[in-house]
Amino acid sequence: MSLITAKNLSKAYAKGELKVEALRDLNFEIEPSSFVSFVGPSGSGKTTLLNLMGCLDKPTSGTLMVDDTDVSELNTRMAAAFRGRKLGFIFQDFNLIPVLTVYENVGYPLLMVQNTPVTERKERVLALLEAVGMADKKDKYPDQISGGQKQRVAVARALVTNPKLVLADEPTANLDHKTAYMVIDIMKKMKNELGTTFIFSTHDQKIVGEAEIIYSLEDGELTSVKGVEKPC
Ligand code: ADP
Ligand code: MG
Repeated sequence: MSLITAKNLSKAYAKGELKVEALRDLNFEIEPSSFVSFVGPSGSGKTTLLNLMGCLDKPTSGTLMVDDTDVSELNTRMAAAFRGRKLGFIFQDFNLIPVLTVYENVGYPLLMVQNTPVTERKERVLALLEAVGMADKKDKYPDQISGGQKQRVAVARALVTNPKLVLADEPTANLDHKTAYMVIDIMKKMKNELGTTFIFSTHDQKIVGEAEIIYSLEDGELTSVKGVEKPC
């Protein structure tokens, strides 16, 4: 069964008198445990789509099912609970909390949304820091580590609640090429180990090729899908 199903999904913004059709009539399905990218130039609708899948915004028309939930029917409180339970987020500018250490940043979602006993919390944070190769930096603050290291910490933070789906909006845009590949590799490794679905957006054609399934967006429309659906 699909993890995400979009049917005739559209999103329009009112911009003064103008209507901007950010997404037009998208239809797609994403299976669990997939590694998927959405590629397209600036303004093609990538962030809008990730925001819809992340329950941060609602479609104008059509339906979007995420893990059997019609996200357009969630109110603000339900959407926040859904995000806390099922989703992880990775951002272009890392969004680590500067006054918290690496260790505290990764543990933060567990404090905020899930009431995890302290020993279990420690174990999970340390295991994830180990998995992304940042255990030796656990007591550093964000301004003491590099951009690539920050994004690895962000990957660990996104996974700490054991979400079904991690959404990453241009996660490599602020990284050099070599570091960008390393971050994508870590996401892929975590997908293989944990079975988490990763969806990332990018405008970088080279990075996009690392995904198993590649959707291209142009002016809010899906123009192509490449890649093979994994056998069940
Ligand atoms: P991308 O992430 O691919 O750069 P976006 O999803 O940010 O694309 O934007 C798609 C289109 O929607 C653009 O034309 C953009 O100007 C417009 N848009 C995005 N967010 C808003 C908003 N909050 N209000 C009005 N227009 C918006
Ligand atoms: Mg964007």
